[in-house]
Amino acid sequence: MTIEAKTNFAAVSRLAADFDLDAEGKAHGFVRVPHSVHRSAYGWIPIPIFRIKNGKGPSVVMQAGNHGDEWEGQIGLGDLIRSLKPSHIQGKLIILPSANFPAAMSGTRTSPIDQGNLNRSFPGDPDGTITEQIAFWIEQHLLKGADYGFDFHSGGSSLSYIPSALAPGVPDPAWRKKAVELMKAFGAPVSYIAAAPQGGGRTFTSAAYRQGVFAMGTELGGGGLVTPTTIKIAADGMRRVLKHVGLYKGKVTPATPTRLMEIGGDDYYIYASDGGVFEPLVDLGTEVKKGQPAARIHFHDTPWRAPALLRFKRAGLVLCKRVPARCERGDCLFHLATDIAG
Ligand SMILES: [Zn+2]
Repeated sequence: MTIEAKTNFAAVSRLAADFDLDAEGKAHGFVRVPHSVHRSAYGWIPIPIFRIKNGKGPSVVMQAGNHGDEWEGQIGLGDLIRSLKPSHIQGKLIILPSANFPAAMSGTRTSPIDQGNLNRSFPGDPDGTITEQIAFWIEQHLLKGADYGFDFHSGGSSLSYIPSALAPGVPDPAWRKKAVELMKAFGAPVSYIAAAPQGGGRTFTSAAYRQGVFAMGTELGGGGLVTPTTIKIAADGMRRVLKHVGLYKGKVTPATPTRLMEIGGDDYYIYASDGGVFEPLVDLGTEVKKGQPAARIHFHDTPWRAPALLRFKRAGLVLCKRVPARCERGDCLFHLATDIAG
């Protein structure tokens, strides 16, 4: 292949759904990701995908399994797939319940194929790694042209959250206002604007913003497990946001008021200063003061050395806490959130 011919392939995804994503009615199948490996020379990775469409109305994309070890979204979207009928909706809904399918099948945050973190891979690359190819397809073929995008996360194996909805702190006030309305409709105990997003333009919600799609994410729990409470928040919230955007015509439970908060800069985060054993000194949901002790790190390799004491750098609500005790320098142990008007 010449360099010129290669250039002509640029920006053309090799991924494709095996059914029509724009047709009327209800259908399911797979997005095929070509993947030639020892076991399967001409094989493809099957990412489950679902479409339901009934006439004119909003076009909505719902996704989970962006990180493979976050389960409420994957379970909740599976339930929606099985229960929704075309007569229940007006418009089009595409559901991608396990977006980074190789990661979901291994129960890990990142892909076992290329170690790719899908939510740090947008805008993606049609000629890149498997994870970059998936990101490119999602942004160019699912989000582009949609009206709303939802990305259901939890804390994963290493973090635990007070169940939350979230939106990135984008410059456009109209987009931000819409995101706050979506979060209020979802009705998690906390809704927050991430003023300094970890992803830096490489996340699903920032891809949505780039494509002019109103979007919202969640952090529904964590620790690599699910609870009856977090499953119910996901299931009820998914239906409420679909009702809110005018797609779902069925009955929904009323949203409970959400606490509107924000996460600002570095002073909201506590990182491990050393490798060792993380001992939290506060629980999730604690209201802390500036200077309050946050954690001790014990040096089990040199137990005669005094543990390191870490303190909160500002006041706030403990929204997120690390799960495993063993930590390395630089691991996130906590982050706070603070109230905003709205
Ligand atoms: Zn996640």
